[in-house]
Amino acid sequence: MKTVYLSLGSNIGNREEMLQQAVRLLASADFRITRMSSVYETEPQDVRGQPWFLNMVLEAETTVFPRQLLGRIQKVEQQLGRRRLAPKGPRTIDIDILLFGTAVIDTTGLTVPHPRMAERRFVLEPMTELAPDLRHPVLRRTMRELLGTIRRQTVRRKTGD
Ligand code: AMP
Repeated sequence: MKTVYLSLGSNIGNREEMLQQAVRLLASADFRITRMSSVYETEPQDVRGQPWFLNMVLEAETTVFPRQLLGRIQKVEQQLGRRRLAPKGPRTIDIDILLFGTAVIDTTGLTVPHPRMAERRFVLEPMTELAPDLRHPVLRRTMRELLGTIRRQTVRRKTGD
């Protein structure tokens, strides 16, 4: 059994509904969602002039292998109608594997820990909410420490979620 963290983001359509549906579709007997962060509203990072994102992180206990999980994630993205209009542009749903236990994976199509998680406030803010003292297996710094190194992106915790 491994503890994994996934990042979920949506910036078109009914964003809250997309996150909720993704959670529903991901949950299964061998992928048990244990905790979810608050939902955060975040400024687009790479490509400006697109709608703001809703982002969250979920924690799960799972017996599936990393590749299998990636396959399931991609299926959920397709089911929720993700269309790749432009790289890093608007998307109905985007799901990333952030951490898979303490595994370090660097293969074609799958890199874990997610290579950009340490520079993304929209990931580190909800990660710190769930697991402030969890250490990044490569960088060897905790989520709280990593969050302290970035301050640029605007991230607001949504009230009422
Ligand atoms: P994106 O369009 O940003 O969602 O990138 C999706 C691609 O990233 C997929 O083709 C995956 O194979 C690849 N990828 C590599 N590492 C990861 C990861 N840790 N989580 C999710 N996708 C990943």
